[in-house]
Amino acid sequence: MTAKAARRARRLAIDGGGRAHPALWIPSPNHDARPPGTTLSLIVVHGISLPPGSFGGDGIVELFTNRLDAAAHPYYATIADLRVSAHFCIRRAGGLIQFVGCQDRAWHAGVSSWGGRGGCNDFSIGVELEGADDIPYTATQYRRLASLAKALARRYPGLAELAGHADVAPGRKTDPGPAFDWGRLSGLLGAGGPAVRAGGSSRV
Ligand SMILES: [Zn+2]
Repeated sequence: MTAKAARRARRLAIDGGGRAHPALWIPSPNHDARPPGTTLSLIVVHGISLPPGSFGGDGIVELFTNRLDAAAHPYYATIADLRVSAHFCIRRAGGLIQFVGCQDRAWHAGVSSWGGRGGCNDFSIGVELEGADDIPYTATQYRRLASLAKALARRYPGLAELAGHADVAPGRKTDPGPAFDWGRLSGLLGAGGPAVRAGGSSRV
């Protein structure tokens, strides 16, 4: 195998069933079917850490699999009853977890709209970055997000845009926050892939 072929073999890919490889598959029950005939068009970028500002624990996985212990932290008591998910989470060191198959509707955006269309969960892929609004995201996270976005766009050619949760739910959500450098992501995506359409409203 040539070096180029080896790189291609290792390259992140989305299979025909909507599963990413390589990724850790931890299925979340918090999903349902997309409306029939939906074309995926948007990647929504989020930031999350549980407890807020604390990295490396099991809180995100527990939240998305309805196993968060409300007694484990005061903040957990306020969110333990939520039924939420995202398709993907990228941890600080770049580890990729998938919770919901891409063809299904994950519950990440909530009340939202983009390009005049409400209900962004219907037509988007949700990607959580383990992070916080005001703490720089890691170089590995940017690289992994860019390669995931490109892999998604190869599988779903309509998937042309990326925006933040703050952009689709302005005034209600702030993530991924001012710490997220959209220009850096745009540079990694390059031309011909999905395009960044975000970065303003997270600062207002
Ligand atoms: Zn979010």
